[in-house]
Amino acid sequence: MTSNRERRMESFRPIVGIDLGTTNSAVAYIAEGKPQILPSPRGERIIPSVVLIDPQGRAVVGEDARAALVAMPDRSLAAVKRRMGSTEPLLLAGQALLPQEISALILKELKSYVDELHGEGDKEAVITVPAYFTDEQRRATKEAGELAGFVVERIINEPTAAALAFGLDNLENDQTFLVYDLGGGTFDVSVVELMSGVLEVRASTGNRMLGGEDFDWKLVDWLAERMIAEHGVDPRDDLRARALLKEKAEDAKKLLSSQETVSLAIPLVTVKHNTPIGLHVELTRTTFVSLIDAQLLESMDKVRQVLDDAGLHAANIDEVLLVGGSTRIPRVSELIVDLFGKAPRTDVNPDEAVALGAAVQAGLKSGALSDSGLVATDVAPFSMGIAVLTEGRLGAPRAGGFAPIIPRNTTIPVTRTKRFSTSAPGQTAVSIEVYQGEHEWVKHNHRLGEFLLEGLPANYKSLEPLDVTFRYNLNGILEVTAQSPANGKAMTVTVQDALNRESKEALQESAERLQKLWDQAPAEEPDDLLSEQEELMELEQWLDEEMDDEERTDEESPTVLHEEAQLLIGRVRDQLDQLESSAKTRALREMERLEQAMEAGDIDRLQQLIDDMTDFLIELEL
Ligand code: AMP
Repeated sequence: MTSNRERRMESFRPIVGIDLGTTNSAVAYIAEGKPQILPSPRGERIIPSVVLIDPQGRAVVGEDARAALVAMPDRSLAAVKRRMGSTEPLLLAGQALLPQEISALILKELKSYVDELHGEGDKEAVITVPAYFTDEQRRATKEAGELAGFVVERIINEPTAAALAFGLDNLENDQTFLVYDLGGGTFDVSVVELMSGVLEVRASTGNRMLGGEDFDWKLVDWLAERMIAEHGVDPRDDLRARALLKEKAEDAKKLLSSQETVSLAIPLVTVKHNTPIGLHVELTRTTFVSLIDAQLLESMDKVRQVLDDAGLHAANIDEVLLVGGSTRIPRVSELIVDLFGKAPRTDVNPDEAVALGAAVQAGLKSGALSDSGLVATDVAPFSMGIAVLTEGRLGAPRAGGFAPIIPRNTTIPVTRTKRFSTSAPGQTAVSIEVYQGEHEWVKHNHRLGEFLLEGLPANYKSLEPLDVTFRYNLNGILEVTAQSPANGKAMTVTVQDALNRESKEALQESAERLQKLWDQAPAEEPDDLLSEQEELMELEQWLDEEMDDEERTDEESPTVLHEEAQLLIGRVRDQLDQLESSAKTRALREMERLEQAMEAGDIDRLQQLIDDMTDFLIELEL
C-alpha cells in the first residue's frame, strides 16, 4: 500500500507554480494530470504574505508573522509586493532589506514545502505577477525567486494563470471569457479566447495600485476620523494603533461581504492623557461601499477599455471569472451583472486559481501536461517605446514625445524595430530613453531606463539614421538594441543593465544574508509565536511606554487618578451587557474596588487598581 504522501511524491515534478500575492501566497504543482495546491506542513493551502524577524533574529513567514503585525509592528511587514521594483530598502527589525529580499523570504517558506516533498536543492518555478507590473517589478520578482533558491523558469501574468487553470478544465468548450482579478494590491483584467485548445489572451490592462489594501486603508481613515471627532486623537500617528485599526478594518471589510452591518468594538486603540481610548462603531455595507465605490467604478472603466481593445462588446463575453480575494465584495458581482447582464462564474476559487494556473504553466513546461493539447499565448499589456523630439503645438520641435515601438496588447514574445534618426547634423552619440505607457508625452509614462549609443559616424550633411529594436520576452522582460545602419555599431542592453542595478556579487551576498536569517529558524515547526500571556505582556509594555510618553508628572495627582478611574468604570459599564458571566463578575468586582479606593482616598491602591482595570480591558480585547 502506498500512502497519499508517497503517491504525491511519485507524481511530483520539481517545477512548481507560485502565486506570490500581496496578501497571500500559495504554491501548486501537477499531480495525476491536474494542478494541486501544495499545503504547508500545518495544512494551510494559502499563507499570509507576511514576514517577521522575531526577537531571536529568525525569519518567520505566514500566519505566525501575520499574528505579530499588531504586537510587533517594527519587526513584521505585510504587502511587500506593493514595494517591488523599488530600490529603497525597508526597515525590518532594524535591518535594511530590499523588497525582493523580503519577498524571497516568503518564497523560501513556500520552497520549504516543496523541499519537504522532494528533498533540498534547486527547484524550478513559474511565478506569477500582475499583468500590469512594470519591467523592474518583474525583474525584482525574478530576483526574489532566485534569492530563494528557485530557478525561475517563467514569470507569467496572474490573469493569464487564472485563465490557464480554467482553460485546462474547459478544453472542450470554445469560448471567450473575461478574467477580473482584484486581489490585495493590484487589479488586472484580461479578455481571453479559448479555441480548439489554444488559449489566447486578446487584451489585458489594469492598475498596479488598486486592491483590498486600499479598501482597508479607506476604512482606517474613516475610523480614525471618528476618533479624531470624538477624542481629538489621531490613532494613525501611533504605529501599533495604526496596525490594530488596519487589522480590525480588514476583518470588518470581510464580514461586510456576507452581512449588512458590523459592530466594531475595540476597547483599547490608543492612549491619551494616560487614559485608554477605544472605538465603538456600527458600520454598514452601504457606508463601506460608499468609501470604495469610486475605485470599483474605476476598475469597471478598465473592463470597458479591455473590451474595446479586444474589439468586443460585453455581449461577446461567454463567461466572467472572478479572481482575487477582493472579488468577494458583493458590489463587484453587482457591477459585473450590470455590465454583462449575467452573473460571474462561481466555480473558480478566487484564492487558488492563480497558483493552480501557474502550476499548469509549469506542467506545460515540464511535460506533465503535454498530452492536454493546451497551448497558451499572452500579450504585453502596455506600449513600450522611446523618447523622441516631436513637433510642438506651434510647429517647433519639442523634447519628450513618446514613440511606441511595441504597441500594447501585442502578442508576446515579440521583436520590433523602428528607424529613427539623430536630431542634429554631426551628432555622434544618442541617448535612448525607454518608457512604457500610453501617453503621447513620456513624462506621463513610466520610465524604464536610459542608455547611450556612441560612435555614430559624424554626418554633417544630414541626420544619421538609427534602428532601435525592442525584444519583449515571454517573462515580460525587455531587451533594447540601438544600431547605426551606416557602420553597424550596435549596443544591446536589458533595461536592468541600463539601470546597472544589481551585480552578481551583490546578489550572492544578499542570498547569504537571507540564508542566515532563515537558518535561525528552528528545525521543528515553531510554536505559536506569542502565547496569549506573552501578547498580553507586550500590550502591557506598550501601554506603559505610551503612558511614559504622556507626562508622568500628572500621574500621581489624585484628581487625575479619580478622573481616570471614573472613565474606566464608565467604559467597563458600557461593556457589561456584552460580557460573559465570569468576565462580568470580575468587572463588577473591579469596579467596586475602584469605587471603594476613591472613597477612601487611597492613592497608591487607586493607582494599582487602575492598572488592574486597564489590564482587564486589554484582556477583553484579546
Ligand atoms: P489575494 O491577493 O487574492 O489573496 O486577495 C487578498 C485580498 O482579498 C485582501 O485584501 C483581503 O482582505 C481580501 N479579501 C479576502 N476575503 C475577503 C472577503 N470575504 N471580502 C472582502 N475582501 C476579502
